Amino acid sequence: MTDVEIPEGGARSNRGATAYSALREAIMENALKPGVKLPEEDLGTHFGVSRTLVRAALAQLALEGLVDIGKTKSATVARPTKADAREAFELRRALEREVAHLVAGRWNADLGRALETHIAAERTASDQGNHKLSVRLGAEFHILLADMAGNSLLRRYVFEVVGRTTLILAVYGQAHPQQDSLDEHIKLVEALKRGDAADASEIVDAHIRSVEDRALSDLDPTDGAGLAEILSRYSRPI
Ligand SMILES: [Zn+2]
Repeated sequence: MTDVEIPEGGARSNRGATAYSALREAIMENALKPGVKLPEEDLGTHFGVSRTLVRAALAQLALEGLVDIGKTKSATVARPTKADAREAFELRRALEREVAHLVAGRWNADLGRALETHIAAERTASDQGNHKLSVRLGAEFHILLADMAGNSLLRRYVFEVVGRTTLILAVYGQAHPQQDSLDEHIKLVEALKRGDAADASEIVDAHIRSVEDRALSDLDPTDGAGLAEILSRYSRPI
């Protein structure tokens, strides 16, 4: 079910990539909660891949800040602290201000159409009250923008920091309507259309700041269902 792209250097085989994507999505949606153990053997059995491929997927997720690999090499879902949250949002604002500048400089009607199509999908998900899809599409809006900046490294770092902040929002965030985010996305596209790089940059900065403010409310992560049960909602065992 996932359509999250894998950055270069990610798990290489298709099934390894499936394991990576399914775990990434389950962590970002908070279905797998911080501290949950991710045993290589169980994951290998579930996804029908070797432990080597599982290890590669976990190593990639650890690089992205979504998984912690302990001293005994056992992996758990990362538990970001408030300080991690502050750092991640600070970096995300800096990167996305630059994205807005670059996209404004390369603007054309095709980019506008692609962003408006995406926003329409966000609106549908929000109107239907599909919170999980709403959150995912909201995050993907920022990846799409970063795609348009024409800098593959910048895109890669945005992809990563969006993953980190989405985990943080899932852990600490209160459920809140996506309507505010949607309005801010629309304002951003309007500024890009006007070719106003400075305004676009300020709007995205303020948007990410308010996402952070709206969300960080210190909810205590609680334990959920078992690993296999949760993962079965993300991909079929092979
Ligand atoms: Zn947004």
